[in-house]
Amino acid sequence: MEKKCKQCERLVVGRSDKKFCSDACRIDHHNQQKKDAYDFKKDLIKVTEGNRKLLHQLLDEGIDKFKTEELLAKGFNFNGITGIAPKAKQVEIYCYEYRLVKKGEWFLLSLLPVSKRMK
Ligand SMILES: [Zn+2]
Repeated sequence: MEKKCKQCERLVVGRSDKKFCSDACRIDHHNQQKKDAYDFKKDLIKVTEGNRKLLHQLLDEGIDKFKTEELLAKGFNFNGITGIAPKAKQVEIYCYEYRLVKKGEWFLLSLLPVSKRMK
């Protein structure tokens, strides 16, 4: 059966378990995968830290209650959170030491007490 190289799609000749046409393609493929994984991690950290900075700023300005659209408009990204806890009547979202409590259409922002962090 004919098989194509996973990297360049040229025909692979040789052993049946061979996935690449050459060592160069095998190495390129693995490097590419490593790069994609690294970029994802880097982007996730960037988004999460951006959220943290935003929440810090909001509390600094005394803003601790807003609607979802307002939070999104300010640049909050729900992909960058560090935890989520569904409760009976509300959902709690965490971003580092900040807690967003979703109550109905409102989000309430607070700083987690030190005793409740990392437990
Ligand atoms: Zn190839």
